[in-house]
Amino acid sequence: MQEKVGVIGGGPAGIVAAGFAGSRGKDVTLIEKNDQLGKKLFITGKGRCNITNASPIEDFFENIITNYTFLYSSFYSFTNKDIIALLESYGLKTKVERGNRVFPLSDKSSDVIKAFKKFLSDNDVNILLNKKIKDIYYKENKFTVAFQDDTREVFDKIVIATGGKSYPLTGSTGDGYTFAKKFGHSIETLKPSLVPIETNEEWIKEVQGLSLKNVTLTASIDEKKIHEEFGEMLFTHYGISGPIVLSMSNHINIYENKKIKLFIDLKPALSEEKLDKRILRDFEEFKNRQINNSLSKLLPQRLIPIVINLSSIDGEKPVNQFSKLERARLVDTIKNLPLTFKRFRPIEEAIVTSGGISIKEIDPSTMESKLLPGLFFAGEIIDVDGLTGGYNLQIAYSTGYLAGTNI
Ligand SMILES: Cc1cc2nc3c(=O)[nH]c(=O)nc-3n(C[C@H](O)[C@H](O)[C@H](O)COP(=O)(O)OP(=O)(O)OC[C@H]3O[C@@H](n4cnc5c(N)ncnc54)[C@H](O)[C@@H]3O)c2cc1C
Repeated sequence: MQEKVGVIGGGPAGIVAAGFAGSRGKDVTLIEKNDQLGKKLFITGKGRCNITNASPIEDFFENIITNYTFLYSSFYSFTNKDIIALLESYGLKTKVERGNRVFPLSDKSSDVIKAFKKFLSDNDVNILLNKKIKDIYYKENKFTVAFQDDTREVFDKIVIATGGKSYPLTGSTGDGYTFAKKFGHSIETLKPSLVPIETNEEWIKEVQGLSLKNVTLTASIDEKKIHEEFGEMLFTHYGISGPIVLSMSNHINIYENKKIKLFIDLKPALSEEKLDKRILRDFEEFKNRQINNSLSKLLPQRLIPIVINLSSIDGEKPVNQFSKLERARLVDTIKNLPLTFKRFRPIEEAIVTSGGISIKEIDPSTMESKLLPGLFFAGEIIDVDGLTGGYNLQIAYSTGYLAGTNI
């Protein structure tokens, strides 16, 4: 008799697992609690979906922050090229942008979902929508899935691909952790990752909405540098966000309870000496002006009073009266604008959840549970996570592929 497979979660991991299990001749049902597949996929990449990354697959590992070795088998079994070829075979055209990020040519995540739907239909996957699973029971080699609407269905094998806990409105509310715990699995502490940072400084509110390009953000604990990022960031009403802040969060979330100091180097291309010379040049040009009005070539307007204040210099003093020491303080603030880490924004606002089903309890070459045969995991529910750039979706496809082909 045809083996019955239930795949829980209609995100990218569940879709890929279900399609490949179907291609292997299984009787597959993909179960999703929302009224549509891929609700989170739809909002990825600001609605454009950064499908994967076009870098060589061996470069992916350095972009995985948690447990990259667990992904050797899956990444090499189903690569970035494989997902692009699969989606293109179902009519999706793709393009590569800055940072090797792969997007649909149409810039529409909905087109990625369309291609995935054709893949599912081609492999005879039954799709159940609006079906929230509230519990799973295991007895005599069978899994009974109990739905919220009090119906039940029995499967020989199941894949849990319910995602993490971030952006719960998309359906990822962490239900899978509860199911897995019931079967004896341990859950590594769930933490927000790729998440904005709240800071203590009051002045932040005065610059909210201001974005900075080509700056360096450094995090340190007890004067020791723990991580550094270069690129673009943004001030918000609570602290900081933007690409380098999200990446930073991924690297420092293990230190959340420590006293983290953050510093922005507003002019990383200039050494302190060169910056001092540059300031002197500007002062020469604006020699009869107050300092308040003479930094506009160097800094964004809204940041000027803040930098002046933090440098403990008098903003109304004419520039030709500035001492070397005062200039040194100004240079120091521009190179090390200080911020105090308060906390990460909540997991609900994180791009990904770090933590999840312990990798020690999953076979990395099949995604099958080492505790209960017939039970498989795929995607963000597993304790692996990566940086922005298409790596998290690739985790979903590659682990989904192994689950689907080995089930
Ligand atoms: C705003 C945002 C932008 C992002 N952009 C990118 C990007 O451009 N590129 C990238 O690589 N990554 C991106 N990510 C991360 C990426 O979207 C996730 O890592 C990925 O979607 C995880 O896939 P998944 O299939 O494991 O889980 P999910 O996509 O979370 O899917 C899980 C599914 O399971 C369903 N489910 C949960 N519980 C139940 C239940 N009890 N019964 C039935 N169904 C259930 C959910 O409704 C959901 O549809 C982004 C994330 C966010 C939040």
